[in-house]
Amino acid sequence: MNHSVKQTPAHQLILNLQVVPLPLVARHEEGPKRVFDLNYEVDATLSGMHAILFVSGESSEKFSLQLPQVKSGINSVEIKLPELESSETQVWQLKIGNNSKDFKLDVDPVRQWHLHISLHSHTDLGFTGPISEIAAIHADNTDQAMALMEDTAHWPSESQFRWTMEISWQLEQYLALRGPEAIDKLKKFLRSGQMELAAMYAGEHVDALGHEEAVRAFYLAAKYRRELKIPVDTAMLCDVPGSTEGLVQIMAKAGIKNFIIADNNFCAPVLKRTDLPRPFNWKSQSGDEITTWYTDHPFFAYIEGRNYGISESVSAARKKLPLRLLEQEKAGYAHNLLHVQYAFDNFRLEFRPALVVREWNEKWEWPKLELSTPRRFFNALRSSGAHIPTRSGDFNEWWTSTFNNYPVETSISKDLHDRIPTIETLSSLFTPWNQSADSQNEAFGKIYHNLLAWDEHSGNGQIWEAEDPEKEKQALAEGYGFIYDAQAELDIQEKRLKEKIGRSFQTAPENSFVVANSLTWERGGEVALEDWKPGESYCIQDHSGESQAHGIVANTHGDIIFRASSVPALGYRTFTVQHQKDCGCNHSPELKTLQSVVKTEDSITLTNGVLEIEVNSSTGEIERFEHLSDGKILDNFTHSDPLGQVQFWESQLADSVQMGRYIRSYYEGVPGQPVQLKLPEVCDVNVRSYTDSRGMEGIEIIYSIEGQNWLTRNLSFDARGKRLVLSYTFHHEGLFSSGLLDRLDHSSGTPSMIYIAFPFSLDSARFNYESTGMSLEAGKNQFKGSNHDFYAIHRWALLRDRDTAVAIYPASSLIADPGEPALMRFRSEYPKDTNALYFRVMPSAGWSNRSWGMGYLEQNLKLHFEIEGFMGSELASCTEQVQRYGAERATDLLASKIDTSTIGKLDCGDRQLVELLGEGLEISTIKPAESHSDDLIIRIRETMGRDTQGRLSLPGYDYQYIAECAITEEIQVWIISESDQKVKLDFQPFEIKTIRYSNHQREAGNT
Ligand SMILES: [Zn+2]
Repeated sequence: MNHSVKQTPAHQLILNLQVVPLPLVARHEEGPKRVFDLNYEVDATLSGMHAILFVSGESSEKFSLQLPQVKSGINSVEIKLPELESSETQVWQLKIGNNSKDFKLDVDPVRQWHLHISLHSHTDLGFTGPISEIAAIHADNTDQAMALMEDTAHWPSESQFRWTMEISWQLEQYLALRGPEAIDKLKKFLRSGQMELAAMYAGEHVDALGHEEAVRAFYLAAKYRRELKIPVDTAMLCDVPGSTEGLVQIMAKAGIKNFIIADNNFCAPVLKRTDLPRPFNWKSQSGDEITTWYTDHPFFAYIEGRNYGISESVSAARKKLPLRLLEQEKAGYAHNLLHVQYAFDNFRLEFRPALVVREWNEKWEWPKLELSTPRRFFNALRSSGAHIPTRSGDFNEWWTSTFNNYPVETSISKDLHDRIPTIETLSSLFTPWNQSADSQNEAFGKIYHNLLAWDEHSGNGQIWEAEDPEKEKQALAEGYGFIYDAQAELDIQEKRLKEKIGRSFQTAPENSFVVANSLTWERGGEVALEDWKPGESYCIQDHSGESQAHGIVANTHGDIIFRASSVPALGYRTFTVQHQKDCGCNHSPELKTLQSVVKTEDSITLTNGVLEIEVNSSTGEIERFEHLSDGKILDNFTHSDPLGQVQFWESQLADSVQMGRYIRSYYEGVPGQPVQLKLPEVCDVNVRSYTDSRGMEGIEIIYSIEGQNWLTRNLSFDARGKRLVLSYTFHHEGLFSSGLLDRLDHSSGTPSMIYIAFPFSLDSARFNYESTGMSLEAGKNQFKGSNHDFYAIHRWALLRDRDTAVAIYPASSLIADPGEPALMRFRSEYPKDTNALYFRVMPSAGWSNRSWGMGYLEQNLKLHFEIEGFMGSELASCTEQVQRYGAERATDLLASKIDTSTIGKLDCGDRQLVELLGEGLEISTIKPAESHSDDLIIRIRETMGRDTQGRLSLPGYDYQYIAECAITEEIQVWIISESDQKVKLDFQPFEIKTIRYSNHQREAGNT
């Protein structure tokens, strides 16, 4: 350990003498020389005199050094002494005239630091300019990087130019701009490792990604890895403070070994609180591991290198770098190898760091600087034999709440997370019975990339400081284009799929249709049959002529809405539609629940024999929510907020948010205690009961100001009568013209948010939720410094105490705060008393106001929640039930009309095409293999966090070989099937398996 020594005895003329042995060794013809910073202060009487320094050690020779003339005040001198071979105690004596001072200094041989500097350009899709301009900048960087690699090829290895493409989007855009032949030149550099391709598609908000979407974030890099034979085993996530545990398995199974999180701590106090070592092996519950590095600079993250003079000059680096390394030594950093990134947002490549590194290494022996790449750094660290500790847990990120700025598009994105795999799976299931050539992978690849580009951290494409309104408009059009293009392309695929399924049948009676199920279990659900006569009455029968629904009237669009039952897992069931007058039956077996509405002067009560809610007629709030069969009141809300109440909250921060400025309270997470804002008194509430077109009763509550409706709430029960359904429509026009948001008393102008409250009378409940690729318990095994303010909820959240559990299914909402609204609270601990979830809706001060007028936000925001209670005997299996219902609610059955003019291969009736048995197992997607589209890929997830065994078979197909693959589809091991293509599969908790069926025993792929 090095010691700096300070001495300030009384009546001395030499004051504040300080020596700092630096981790800096100069090259010298006499041998390496260690650098010490000597500082002292002198009284004015000594000014102009000569100072002499004597240094003697136990083993080393004695030195006397003539120092520069003393000046009044502080004197700083760089001292160079021969580098030691072993630790020793030295005596240092400073003599000025008759004054002298001496002291002892323990000196160790210098720590031999080796810095790996990774140059890249941080990629924001938006933020600094329109996305198309950003793509051009990154393409220019790639060209320049190659030219510089050629120019510096004869330089010493450490200073040869190296460059990293932070995300695979950069390479995709490069090839689109330069033409596919541009890869020939690039390949050489990517293969040699001079240039590195990092593996993620874009800088994702990882915890917001859909299950299959998260997997697809690594598909493009894996394709380049396979086709170009380049090494890709490192992923970078820059700017985003945190990532979620589910991604660890996905990355590891995509052949990724290394992960860099350059955590921008702006509004995210990760570093202030974390105790994670650097790097650490992040281990998931599935047993997968990935070596993870995070940047420890409090506010420069990936810009870090700039702060150490690397982009300026050797003398600038001499001043800053050794102090930074001393800091690392003091902080207990364990390795001699250190990774430093140098990047800026969509910036143009800089060559200067290469010059500085070359000159530095000529002058200084230690520390060594090297232009590197993340992969090169991790490989060097591993071969140094460094011990890397292992940690398990979640690193829930802090920035996902940016999605609240575009709530309509967030609900579209959430819908796509489950809809894309549904369409993809059904397209694959019905492919073998069609002759249609398949560009399916290309189409779905494009859809996923658009979705991933939207779920990236820069948001809607807007420019931080747009000077030109036309530029801003272009940026927003390109940014919003991602999500709307993904949606439109999927609509096209769905339409094609319906036609394809319709042509798959041999013979069928007139007016037959098929209902297809992409889930792993038999299920029922509502479907819409198109092209019938509005107002006409119909009867639905199954293939055997049994009536399924009698007397259903086609709506004004000509749709028959019908609840199909018992549709086989991963298969189909066919039905026929008859005019009611011809059907020959006179009843409908459809389940009707016993609903009733009771009105009094003060309230309206809705009951179905299982659940009962009572709504106050003047406030519009739910006053009671009761589970009748158990005689238990889920809540009477006497001591908490009413269930489903819309609330307005404002944070009270010490400093207002200023983009790009270092504000200490933000980096340190100084909380702003949020306060609830009162609704203006002019707000009217109108409560009524109604019956919908299917005969379901409901309660409607309309909120208005001076005749302008800004919110409609609908309360009803689901078709099975088990769940309370809460629908919200925030009327864009009403919010705008009523001036509601302006009328709120926004006192401090700090971040504000509209919330929906879901409190329950539970006793310190545990909070589990579905996250990306797995489910998690909030607050349990969360890394210190990760986010406790809010969580990104996928299909379900479950609050559970000893006697009761309540599930919430948020169809189109993403972000929920447990316990209480935690807007900028920067909670360092999980709240103890979690009996409520508060879902974030959108900011209440301006609804992403720069997008007004773009047309994107001139639509209503519709949110949909379902609530289900569990008590008594249901408790034991409630998580299984919630997981299943969550999947069913997020995944529609697909109905299409059978085309009787074509002849396919399937028979009418019902049939299961793929069979998967095993508790808690779900198929994520079924698709043609990327490399050979005649191979079939089946991806399976374990969802309950348990070891389990599954059995997969394909009764309707004819494949000879079965292989287990990397998540990116490369064959890893051939499996012996039991018989008839049946395979037994063992699953770890939350494990994802990718199985490949083929008629060719292909070579194992590289990962
Ligand atoms: Zn960024």
